[in-house]
Amino acid sequence: MKALLVVDVQNDFCPGGSLAVPQGDAIVPVINALLGKFPVVVASKDWHPHQTVHFQKWPVHCVHNTRGAEFHPALNSVNIQQVFLKGTGNTDDGYSAFEATNLDLVKFLKEKGVTNLYVVGLATDYCVRASALDAVKKGFKTYVVQDGVAAVNLHPGDDRKAFDEMKAGKVELVFSQDIV
Ligand SMILES: [Zn+2]
Repeated sequence: MKALLVVDVQNDFCPGGSLAVPQGDAIVPVINALLGKFPVVVASKDWHPHQTVHFQKWPVHCVHNTRGAEFHPALNSVNIQQVFLKGTGNTDDGYSAFEATNLDLVKFLKEKGVTNLYVVGLATDYCVRASALDAVKKGFKTYVVQDGVAAVNLHPGDDRKAFDEMKAGKVELVFSQDIV
């Protein structure tokens, strides 16, 4: 059984948002085209309190119940069966979807019989990377869809580094056209 994990496709991570990933919205059509190919679709949301140590490292973004924390309007979010909220405390970064606090992602996926997890979303070099590496550790055969992710690239080449790190961590890199 395969599942799609859509990581943090939220307004604040898209152009116009407070922590915009360059071309962050360009992946939305790719993700929308994939949604129907998966029996299980889940998503994560960065869901921060107003004050958190996380905002000492990053501009304020994805504060819970704000517009910036909503899914990008073009994302076909009705197809998302469950949303997992992370970074909800005052001291945790919550880069990985597996750090969600509202529900246990591993338990949810295992109950659905999911063995293979495909990861798309934002951003390649932070939350996608952390979620994919965690998925391998939790025992899922893990894939990252390269044309379904985009990077912050604070330092040029961070995306390449993240892909290399994921590959070394047993994450398989694929393209959306290869998924049937
Ligand atoms: Zn955050």
